[in-house]
Amino acid sequence: SPNLNYKYFVSNSEQISQNIINRNLKDVNISLVCSLYKNYRMIITELNALRSKHNELSKFNNNNLLSNESGSKTILLEEAKKLKQQIQQKESKLIEVEKELLKEALKIPNDTHFNTPIGNEENARLIKQIGETTITKDLSLKDHLTISKNLNLINFDQASNVTGTSWYYLMNEGALLELALIQYGIEKAIKKGFTPIITPDVIKSEFSHACGFQPRDNEEVSQNYFISNESSQNLVLSATAEVPLAGLYSNKILSHKELPIKLVGFGRAFRSEAGARGQDTKGLYRVHQFSKVELFTITKNDQSDKMFEEIVELQEDIYKDLGLCFRIMDMPTHELGASTYRKYDMEAWMPGRGKWGEISSASNCTDYQSRRLSIRYKSPSSNTTEFAHTLNGTAVAIPRLIIAILENFQKDDGKSVVIPAVLRKWMGNKDIIKL
Ligand code: AMP
Repeated sequence: SPNLNYKYFVSNSEQISQNIINRNLKDVNISLVCSLYKNYRMIITELNALRSKHNELSKFNNNNLLSNESGSKTILLEEAKKLKQQIQQKESKLIEVEKELLKEALKIPNDTHFNTPIGNEENARLIKQIGETTITKDLSLKDHLTISKNLNLINFDQASNVTGTSWYYLMNEGALLELALIQYGIEKAIKKGFTPIITPDVIKSEFSHACGFQPRDNEEVSQNYFISNESSQNLVLSATAEVPLAGLYSNKILSHKELPIKLVGFGRAFRSEAGARGQDTKGLYRVHQFSKVELFTITKNDQSDKMFEEIVELQEDIYKDLGLCFRIMDMPTHELGASTYRKYDMEAWMPGRGKWGEISSASNCTDYQSRRLSIRYKSPSSNTTEFAHTLNGTAVAIPRLIIAILENFQKDDGKSVVIPAVLRKWMGNKDIIKL
């Protein structure tokens, strides 16, 4: 069960209340958590008093069992019985309050980094931009739908017959481009000391919950597809390899010598994306299934800020070597979700959209996930165990990188595309996609 720090919630309730406002969370109530906790503590105190009274009485009764004063003995036995009943009532009350307390406290989001901008997406802070946009000569550039049609790289029509809208086949060099990007991302991460992992893409929904996603609570924002056959005990299709990667270390006590743990996982991400269609998301931009290479790390509780920088540096390196023009944004409070303490997004310039499009993000979840999954380590200084910190970042999410590559490296009026040099070794050493 989750190891929430109630004492921390109660003694920092004002700061938490402000954080809830800053994150624009409607259904989270810190004062309710505080009063439930107070009530919970009170019941425990009362229960302890009743129990010790009952103990005393039992001892007294046992000692006097052989005495002859039968009248007073009967009274005392009656009283012990009454106490026992009161104890049982209090115990069930305690279970009830504890359950309610946990339910409400689980909604409390992670704390927020002091430097995080407050507000919605528009308040994202530019950290830096790499490369130049094609903003001035955009008009002649084709979008990825036109280019992929010219070159027979993606088939949406037949996928919509076979599965539905927002599903796709990658064809020819389109398929090779995906495989090349996966290899490229994994190779880059391995060079920085990450361990390659291929994850299960089906997970128990409780793991999704523990990582800060709400699979079933809110259908509107739920990203998950559920597996609905009866034997499948609440299984969902994973929306990100972050969840099975975090799950790999659930209920573990690590040695501090094992940290940091740095994993690069490959998985397929499934997202129901309810109600998210529009001109802005056409083609590959928002689809229901995609391949993703994900970075996931576990650190000591004072090392996650440093690890965050390391992840962002690796991501920057990955997109720079692809030759993309992109920018790094410090994401504001409304964009953080429940688990994240700090989040950077990377956005690539996409000429077909005539604007930036998110290709990647990096998150420091501090101890939010590790408390819920019980990922701990033995501290080097004392003999205590501490909750680890977890972080995640996209290395390569295929569809939007394909958009950025096709649209930025197109030639010949959208009838050919130059392949980024770093990918060519996985694409038959060709330097161009053309018919
Ligand atoms: P997230 O896990 O939501 O931060 O997404 C990580 C990355 O996956 C994003 O930066 C996008 O590049 C990509 N992505 C997320 N959702 C979709 C989607 N529905 N279709 C295509 N790519 C997506």
